[in-house]
Amino acid sequence: MSTPETPVVANFLRPIVQSDLDSGKHSKIVTRFPPEPNGYLHIGHAKAICLNFGLAKEFGGECNLRFDDTNPAKEDQEYIDAIKADVQWLGFQWAGQERYASSYFEQLHDWAVFLIKAGDAYVCDLSPEQAREYRGNLTEPGRNSPGRERGIEENLELFARMKAGEFADGAMSLRARIDMAAPNMNLRDPVLYRIRHAHHHQTGDKWCIYPSYDFTHGQSDAIEGITHSICTLEFEDHRPLYEWFLARLPVPAQPRQYEFARLNLNYTVTSKRKLKQLVDEKHVAGWDDPRMSTLVGFRRRGYTPGSIRNFCDMIGVNRAGGVVDIGMLEFSIREDLDASAPRAMCVLQPLKVVITNYPQGQVENLELPRHPKEDMGVRVLPFSREIYIDAGDYEENPPKGYKRLEPGSEVRLRGSYVIRADEAIKDAAGKVIELRCSYDPLTLGKNPEGRKVKGVIHWVPAAESVECEVRLYDRLFRSASPEKADEEGGSFLDNINPQSLVVLKGCRAEPSLALAQPEERFQFEREGYFCADLKDSQPGAPVFNRTVTLRDSWGQ
Ligand code: ATP
Ligand code: MG
Repeated sequence: MSTPETPVVANFLRPIVQSDLDSGKHSKIVTRFPPEPNGYLHIGHAKAICLNFGLAKEFGGECNLRFDDTNPAKEDQEYIDAIKADVQWLGFQWAGQERYASSYFEQLHDWAVFLIKAGDAYVCDLSPEQAREYRGNLTEPGRNSPGRERGIEENLELFARMKAGEFADGAMSLRARIDMAAPNMNLRDPVLYRIRHAHHHQTGDKWCIYPSYDFTHGQSDAIEGITHSICTLEFEDHRPLYEWFLARLPVPAQPRQYEFARLNLNYTVTSKRKLKQLVDEKHVAGWDDPRMSTLVGFRRRGYTPGSIRNFCDMIGVNRAGGVVDIGMLEFSIREDLDASAPRAMCVLQPLKVVITNYPQGQVENLELPRHPKEDMGVRVLPFSREIYIDAGDYEENPPKGYKRLEPGSEVRLRGSYVIRADEAIKDAAGKVIELRCSYDPLTLGKNPEGRKVKGVIHWVPAAESVECEVRLYDRLFRSASPEKADEEGGSFLDNINPQSLVVLKGCRAEPSLALAQPEERFQFEREGYFCADLKDSQPGAPVFNRTVTLRDSWGQ
């Protein structure tokens, strides 16, 4: 068994941080989580959040939240607000105010001028198509842009005119003078500034030139005194450039970049572009649709922040990558809810049962524990002549080994009596619409004499139960790797699971659920874990979302 003091979960960054603290290289570590505000956070981001905030917490350091907002056309205040709420919901708090790369635009501009003056940057007037062509490819070196030979004075003047708005979008760019033959394509005179006449959510219309990601990220890290700049592996090839800027500019600190493998989950899409497409094309009800892999989606589905943090701990942090089974995430929420969610009964397909030998007008208030192990008190279920059971718990012609009700058989009602099915009432089409049963008055809290009753089924009182809507959510994609279709000429949308949402109306929940609070979570006995919907659940008219089934039934 592991204890909290000796984490066994692999995280290759922990020893690095520890040794930087031990050696005195840093007296305190500072990390950051740097989302682009161009969509909602997804489960992959949770891994990066838990990693950055988690390391800072564990080693007594700080973690910043910095919006990487250099691409105003795709960004929006809505996303900024949502990202802040998500990080806090996950249980983390950033140091001080949230930060914006755009707050450093002035400084970045001055550093661009610094590079021009040092002969390390030039204005290029190749069109975007020409620039692509001049760049070469993995096997062929690139060619120098004609602008590369411009003198410093002319570069300064052109850059000033770019900034003043004299040129159209794409007409010119500012590039670093590095090496057009570098085997690493990122070093082939990368773009530092682009012209983009666009309104920015933070800086308004102040700028019409915007710095590139590469020219922004490392310097922003340096400005904030970030010690360990942790990003995903696709930035590994950008590290030489990250270091090239830090080495040449008069930056106040020298952060170091480390890369880890991004989270890939099977049955799941974690690309903001694709998630946005699902929303825009209305394949789901919104970013917070409970089938989405967004944090707002998981939240609305009923996932707890703790279950997501646990999951991130379980998968560890390494550079190897691979695909994680979504079953691990489901395991994590089951484990959490098994311990924390009170039990309740809800009948999804109600079938009325009249207990013919139960005295008219009599009511017994039965007390059932709210949790089998934890002390959560009791709930009261009134028991009388008319109840509902689930239509699936009665079979005229049951398969072998069936343990529920069949003609003439007995079953125990959870926390109540044993009843026997005497007669089924059918409609004109032959469908069972009501059962007539009798109960054994000697079986409350004890087994009947001389016979064994195997099955236990759930039930609710007919009169006092509350009508509710239940939304049975399942995985959004039926294929383990939905994005494979994109590589094969199809679309990930082809893999949407048509049964990913089944809405049941007219379900009946036990009376204590009438006032379920939005986001209150329950185990509906024999049915799964559910939570009252954040938006649509009303007092007296609850709506429940299925978070996860009781057991993993996929792949069976
Ligand atoms: P997407 O590919 O979904 O658009 P992104 O990487 O462009 O994601 P950012 O907003 O730039 O999204 O991400 C912020 C941080 O989260 C980055 O440090 C990024 O590396 C990290 N991150 C994004 N996706 C994942 C993932 N699947 N696993 C781990 N970290 C991730
Ligand atoms: Mg990104």
